[in-house]
Amino acid sequence: MTDKTFGAYVALGSNIEPDENIRRGLALLREVRDTRLVAESSRYRTAPWGIETQPDFINLVVALSTGLTPLELLEATQEIERRLARRRDLKNGPRTIDLDILLYDGQMLDEDDLKIPHPGLLIRDFMLVPLIEIAPEAMHPVRGLPVRALTEEIRYRQILERLPSEDEHQGCG
Ligand code: ADP
Ligand code: MG
Repeated sequence: MTDKTFGAYVALGSNIEPDENIRRGLALLREVRDTRLVAESSRYRTAPWGIETQPDFINLVVALSTGLTPLELLEATQEIERRLARRRDLKNGPRTIDLDILLYDGQMLDEDDLKIPHPGLLIRDFMLVPLIEIAPEAMHPVRGLPVRALTEEIRYRQILERLPSEDEHQGCG
């Protein structure tokens, strides 16, 4: 690790063999240089949007501590998408893995290929809800408020269920 590290939050989503592809995506994220995976939200089963006649998604959010710049982190996440052979032919269509940078160290970026905070963060429950689960106090740099206080603008309510983690009791009672 380099001396200086930054906190970043990355959303993962998949609806092609999602359990396997999320597992592989997380394994590859753990291999990114100068980067540590420090927290992982529950997985959420999510209804597709855009093209609705496709399988449900699994979505989650992870917290990273990274020495990479935002653009280097984007390159690393896009490399993971390529390695998992993500097909880009259908906008909003099925995908083996999608990695989106939600927040990076309280920074704001508005470049063609990288917008931070992610433009979907406050309007898509499957980005905001898992982020609040692991980092309720993370500041949204545009709104100047912690993300837990920013649920009112959600427009896309796609979450069908939060999946229990392996160490949670299942089906008791
Ligand atoms: P989407 O995530 O909207 O379903 P893509 O994953 O194909 O679609 O992303 C399209 C483009 O979004 C990428 O080429 C990337 O450069 C750009 N982009 C802009 N901001 C971000 C961000 N915060 N995280 C990831 N990609 C981003
Ligand atoms: Mg994306």
